[in-house]
Amino acid sequence: MTPSEDCKRCALCEGRTKVVRPDGDPMSPIALVGEAPGAKEDAAGRPFVGSSGKVLTQLLEEEGLPRSKVFITNTVKCRPPGNRDPTQEEMDACLPCLESELENRKVIITLGRSAAKDLLRKPIVMKDIVNRPQKITIRGKEMVLIPAYHPAASFYNRTVKDSIRQSIRCARTYLEGP
Ligand code: URA
Repeated sequence: MTPSEDCKRCALCEGRTKVVRPDGDPMSPIALVGEAPGAKEDAAGRPFVGSSGKVLTQLLEEEGLPRSKVFITNTVKCRPPGNRDPTQEEMDACLPCLESELENRKVIITLGRSAAKDLLRKPIVMKDIVNRPQKITIRGKEMVLIPAYHPAASFYNRTVKDSIRQSIRCARTYLEGP
């Protein structure tokens, strides 16, 4: 279930250009969940097509898991004004949609704090949980969540790309299991 073009479940509808729909392989066992669309995504209606997307796409390629083989979405499907973080209320309004997108996945990589907080349903400190797999249950189905840094963090910290590479490798180990 993705929101309709005229979705009005939260106030983000007022400023959006396009609802940003998921990208990649709809049947992939692995999903990447970003925070929220930015200006480029809002214009294109597609997630991770701006500068963070370039980093993400490159890291996925380098790790042998091209973008076309994973499912990519966001906690909220509409751009928060001024690229602020989505509020809890906005994420809650979009959660049924996110859950329906994720319910049959095996592994979820959350990108950044908002996505981890949204799906773990608790306050988090990124440095304490990054790359520590967590079990979560969505609609009665258990899966693994790997908290990763947001690719935009790599613009300020040179170690972040390596950390995200680690997250992708960690996700792959769950796919290769029995
Ligand atoms: N950042 C995100 O979290 N999601 C996008 O789709 C683009 C940038």
